[in-house]
Amino acid sequence: MQILTLGNENLKQKALPVKKIGLEYLKIAEELINTLHAEEGIGLAGPQVGISERIFAIHIEEDEPRIFINPSIIETSQETVSFEEGCLSIPGIYCDVIRPKSIKVQAWNEKGRSFVLEATGIAARVILHEYDHLEGILFIDRLPEQKRNRVIEKFEKTRTKENKKAQRAAEKVRKETLNSDINQGSNT
Ligand code: ZN
Repeated sequence: MQILTLGNENLKQKALPVKKIGLEYLKIAEELINTLHAEEGIGLAGPQVGISERIFAIHIEEDEPRIFINPSIIETSQETVSFEEGCLSIPGIYCDVIRPKSIKVQAWNEKGRSFVLEATGIAARVILHEYDHLEGILFIDRLPEQKRNRVIEKFEKTRTKENKKAQRAAEKVRKETLNSDINQGSNT
């Protein structure tokens, strides 16, 4: 699965509820988790890989990977905490975000089994971050406007730089190929 990044309109869409958790969700769940592992993330939501449905995967250290389908946040603590977050869709950007310290969430897993989970600390944070993705909200949308604008600017700059670097690398490969073609030509 390919991860969509900031600027892609899909990330701003509210995802649709999953109507029926059929067998195909076993496969989707597996692919979400594989992508999450490949990218070394701790959470990944459907909309980030172009699936506009209410599904996400999390994998927190010392726990098994978990799939949440059609989740509802049924309780949030009054107490909030500020903690640094990042997002696979906004690579290279990390900011402190304020969120409830603990939550209670109800969802279905990839086998269609309903569950209720109480989470605190990093688990609560990841679940709320992924839940936001289903609502078309990115963590930078939770920052004060000025800060958000600065972050977007920084992201655009790094992206332009990286694109230029990639272009130069591609150009170099092209030139080297050309040279070796010429060399080969002169050798024969
Ligand atoms: Zn994210």
